[in-house]
Amino acid sequence: MDDLHKSTKAIQAGKATHQEVRPVAMPIYLSSTYERKADGSYHNNYVYSRNDNPNRQLLEQSMAELEGGAVAYAFSSGMAAISAVLQSLSTGDHILLADDVYFKVRTLLDDVYNRWGLSYSLVDMTDLDAVAAAIGPHTRMLWLESPSNPMLKITDIEAVTTLTREYNCLTVVDNTWATPILMNPIQLGADIVVHSTTKYIGGHSDVLGGAVVCGVADDTAQRVADIQVAMGAVPSPFDCWLVSRGVQTLPLRVAAQSSAAMKLAEYLAGHDQVEVVHYPGLTTHAGHSIAASQMSDYGAMLSVQIVGGQSAALAVCNALQLFTQATSLGGVESLVEHRQSVEGPSSSTPPSLLRLSVGLEHAEDLISDFAQALQSLA
Ligand code: PLP
Repeated sequence: MDDLHKSTKAIQAGKATHQEVRPVAMPIYLSSTYERKADGSYHNNYVYSRNDNPNRQLLEQSMAELEGGAVAYAFSSGMAAISAVLQSLSTGDHILLADDVYFKVRTLLDDVYNRWGLSYSLVDMTDLDAVAAAIGPHTRMLWLESPSNPMLKITDIEAVTTLTREYNCLTVVDNTWATPILMNPIQLGADIVVHSTTKYIGGHSDVLGGAVVCGVADDTAQRVADIQVAMGAVPSPFDCWLVSRGVQTLPLRVAAQSSAAMKLAEYLAGHDQVEVVHYPGLTTHAGHSIAASQMSDYGAMLSVQIVGGQSAALAVCNALQLFTQATSLGGVESLVEHRQSVEGPSSSTPPSLLRLSVGLEHAEDLISDFAQALQSLA
């Protein structure tokens, strides 16, 4: 085969080599397709990258293990993961959503799934009687976040799932804020956990991703698996690689970020320009004891209401120097956001509220930054 044309050589010379190179870090398998064996079968069942690839498999295995689930499926964003779970339902099904659920879940249901025959109603998931009363004959799913976004409400997941099992409803917990390090909803009785891996799991504000973890490999899990491949909202191998790299440092980052958030929350709670601090680590928080029983720490998200309403909150936001004013959360850098203006006119978030994502900067520096920003109000 020495007399090949240059155009053939250009292709063949660049073909993947399969040497035993023993890398310590996982390589990125960019190949979109995989070679078949002579008998028509596939090496390790890799066929085509939308179906599966080594980087996605690694990420899915680690998500299932960290959450204590049977199977996990990775998606191109948190919203794609949420969408796949909603698509596992049938026309006519009803979903009970936490009243302060991540606002884009409501938008997705209003703008897309309403036309496909899914309906929803909102309930305060911290009120078990209200939850029981809101479950109707077509309710198939309860959807909650704990801590919630942006009010940091804490739901008793064990109590809610005891109730939903009576009614044959699935419980889905968006565990993005608590992370699998601080809380494992499947162990508390939830059926499905979803994540925006864009946040803490990726951890560096440089990749979008989502994941669905199912407690058991049942028909619902299979439907999510089928939707993942058929709809094709899958993460690229590079995205999976970035998120998997984040997984390796997740426990350390979450521990350090939670510790700094606790110190900042305590400082802000004692400041006279601060009306209220929403942080489940504070003993004054309504959900503190439930959070203490179902989480191993309180996380790195907090919301703070500033005395003087919206204008004062915006002034603090603009005066902060170490907190970047940007949406999203869970990265190594601290972020601040005036949440009501992000959520738009239908938002029920108080205008005086700032949502904080505490990063890996030193707690004393973050406290000094708030001290000078609040001082500017005086
Ligand atoms: N769930 C929560 C709690 C979120 O905060 C977000 C995004 O902010 C999402 C889901 C959606 O994730 P993504 O932006 O990766 O689609």
